[in-house]
Amino acid sequence: MSDITKIDKQYIAGTYRRFDVELVEGKGSIIKGSDGREYIDMGSGIGVTAFGIADDEWVKATSSQLSKLQHVSNLYYTEPCAKLAKTLCDRTGFDKVFFSNSGAEANECAIKVARKYASDTKGEDCYTIITLVNSFHGRTITTLSATGQDCFHKLFNPLTDGFEHAIANDIDSVKQIIATKKVAGIMIECVQGEGGVNPLDANFVAQISDICQREDILLIVDEVQTGNGRTGKLYAYMNYDITPDIITTAKGLGGGLPIGATLMGEKVSTVLGAGDHGSTFGGNPVACAGALSIIDRIDEDFLAQVNEKSKYIFDTLNGAEGIVSVSGKGLMIGIKTVKPAAEVVKLCMQNGVLCLTAKDKVRLLPALNIPMDTLVKAIDILKLACK
Ligand SMILES: *Cc1c(COP(=O)(O)O)cnc(C)c1O
Repeated sequence: MSDITKIDKQYIAGTYRRFDVELVEGKGSIIKGSDGREYIDMGSGIGVTAFGIADDEWVKATSSQLSKLQHVSNLYYTEPCAKLAKTLCDRTGFDKVFFSNSGAEANECAIKVARKYASDTKGEDCYTIITLVNSFHGRTITTLSATGQDCFHKLFNPLTDGFEHAIANDIDSVKQIIATKKVAGIMIECVQGEGGVNPLDANFVAQISDICQREDILLIVDEVQTGNGRTGKLYAYMNYDITPDIITTAKGLGGGLPIGATLMGEKVSTVLGAGDHGSTFGGNPVACAGALSIIDRIDEDFLAQVNEKSKYIFDTLNGAEGIVSVSGKGLMIGIKTVKPAAEVVKLCMQNGVLCLTAKDKVRLLPALNIPMDTLVKAIDILKLACK
């Protein structure tokens, strides 16, 4: 055990099961361990380093902001914060943005907006938010309540009241809840990430969108993992024919610095007023400058490359020995393997490739700009590990 491993184990709260490797530096999709070994990074810090490690443009954008002004609080205006909000709205058609620092916080804001909107328009007793079984929305007490996985719930009761879990791709289970509860919003991930990289059926998503419009229920799409080019569109809802009232994002948005964003459409653009919500670090100029350098580069040409790489992975892995099925969209991919997923990930790491798991699957979330030859190398190693 290295010194760092020992110190970490002694002083860091025991919430994480870490792999036995200390990472020290990298460039793009290559990460180096403290023992000098190089790894191809197929996880990008759980979909965070969207343009890889120490990407030149991102380093330039963040470090130049860092040397000018690192923080001012939300009592004042700053350029990166305003510009990022404008860019996000211009690129999506949403009207307002609230910035925070994580996915859970972005969802907390969406939940507050939904409850306030429903309270203003339908009365204080209208607050239920429907989410899906197997969803993941975060680790705060309220976003845990939203998360539709009992394994996360049992130790932390009582959770926040007012969340009901419907079954993905089963519209009757949604309707049943609406028939018995006063529903303020429905929150979905277009591709359930932590739940096993499962895209929702287009038909189910369309039916949810219809119900939301008809009943004046807010449609909230959690794009924390799926957003910012990950699924081959700027945001995953753009793969479907829907216009959500609210989307939330984080992970890849900052390219490696903490940022969360809640984007609000016309219907809810004025719901939050002065004092209704806030975040000390939210809209941090360095994080926003980094995010701008990420979003500005995710254009149609870039997304076409994301989709080409996605097709290569699906084509290569579908039907390969030891692989049961491949799911997902864009560069968010789940692989059901004959061997246990953890064993495949371990073998990959021994052979120089870092992968993730999601439920019983191997999960890939490489940097969106991973070079094709690096990707080919990593997929070859993964294929061998699955045999
Ligand atoms: C990761 C994730 C979250 C939580 O994000 P944090 O930044 O860890 O709070 C919420 N929703 C989805 C879909 C996620 O993948």
